[in-house]
Amino acid sequence: MKNVSDVIIVGGGPCGLFTALNLAKQGVNVAVFEEHSEIGVPSHCPGHLSINGLKKLGLYPLPAEIVENNFHGAVFHSPKGTSFSVHFSQPVTCVVNRVLFDNHIAEIAEEAGVHYHLNSRVESLIIEDGFVKGVVVRKKGRNEEFLANIVIDAEGVSSRILRQVGLSCLNRHMFVNGVQAEVENVKSTNLDTVEVFFGKDYAAGFYAWLIPKQDGKAKVGLATKTGNPHELFQKFMLRHPTASRKLRTAKILQVAFHPLTLGGPIEKTYSNGFLVVGDAASQVKPTTGGGVIWGMTCARIASKVAYEALSENDFSSNVLSRYQVQCEGILDFDANIMLRIRKMLNAMSDENMDNVISLLKKLKLDETFQGFQDIDLQGQSLLRLLRSPKMLVALFYFSLLYLSANP
Ligand SMILES: Cc1cc2nc3c(=O)[nH]c(=O)nc-3n(C[C@H](O)[C@H](O)[C@H](O)COP(=O)(O)OP(=O)(O)OC[C@H]3O[C@@H](n4cnc5c(N)ncnc54)[C@H](O)[C@@H]3O)c2cc1C
Repeated sequence: MKNVSDVIIVGGGPCGLFTALNLAKQGVNVAVFEEHSEIGVPSHCPGHLSINGLKKLGLYPLPAEIVENNFHGAVFHSPKGTSFSVHFSQPVTCVVNRVLFDNHIAEIAEEAGVHYHLNSRVESLIIEDGFVKGVVVRKKGRNEEFLANIVIDAEGVSSRILRQVGLSCLNRHMFVNGVQAEVENVKSTNLDTVEVFFGKDYAAGFYAWLIPKQDGKAKVGLATKTGNPHELFQKFMLRHPTASRKLRTAKILQVAFHPLTLGGPIEKTYSNGFLVVGDAASQVKPTTGGGVIWGMTCARIASKVAYEALSENDFSSNVLSRYQVQCEGILDFDANIMLRIRKMLNAMSDENMDNVISLLKKLKLDETFQGFQDIDLQGQSLLRLLRSPKMLVALFYFSLLYLSANP
């Protein structure tokens, strides 16, 4: 007998699971295939999320055991150790336990009727007459075929099966290699503030982070375009001028390595009978590498468009292209601005980064940054900030530095 579902989801990460949840809530028969034996494991992500983003997704408040801390702001450390802080009156972000977060979505999706196939790796797509009709799954050493009207690719940065339908995979030139650790015995952290550390000697093309948790431990990590992330992480903890004062004697409890995709959403995310969501489509903020809120925002759109296609009994690109149009409507403006900012930051020397952070501090722009309301849509937030003359001065200075370094 054939295994048939309305929709097959490849990958049980947050974006695949959220797509499945939203479809199952509408009565759609959904099967999720996950190559690992457990949802959320192994975890490679600290799970720093905007509260506003979670609210927009209908996921806030989360069950208390998932949330490890809430934050009122952030402090940005320049390579030489100058710091600039932004503090909000309300918590704006939180850090979640990603294993519990992913399992929370999986459980409510299961209650809504989603079927899971664990230890099941999707090897390839089944394509007939130009339409994706299902997947070939490797399970217990055997290949088995599963059919569906629509297959949704949510396999994360490995982003592999979409090539079979001729979609372009992720821009590997815009990858950075991440390392994320859980540590204890961290000195003098401010519990309501996330810390960000710039410096090409430790995190070229990105930054390092310190996210304190209420239980006294912290999530510490970095991502880098060059060098060995493991060695750079050791060096960061022991020698970084500011971070080492807090981390030199810290004990690493767990560590994970994984790439981040910073190139902005891929050009095309649909084909006949096929959609791509989450990291597999690079629906990730190019500035911070945050992909959970963006990916789940697109996952919700994917579920809506897939439901429309099922209702209309039309699984062609023509109908499924609505997904891309709607995602672009929400993210395109911000993705373009954030990609430009990422490229400008990458091109900036450590000395200039020191100058910029010193200027932000001198101009007392912390108050102005309190108007930075939406950290997920940073392009729009930045535009609002530019109403402030001080911010225009800072932007002018930033542009001069950039132009002098890149004539
Ligand atoms: C170091 C680091 C730090 C990060 N920090 C943050 C942060 O603080 N905040 C934030 O929002 N984002 C962060 N991110 C990004 C975030 O982790 C991703 O954007 C998010 O997990 C994407 O979800 P996803 O469902 O698209 O993919 P994933 O979470 O990668 O899930 C994909 C799933 O698909 C499965 N899979 C893959 N291929 C197959 C296959 N062929 N068959 C079956 N199963 C398959 C995988 O096992 C996996 O479970 C970070 C990433 C890294 C690496």
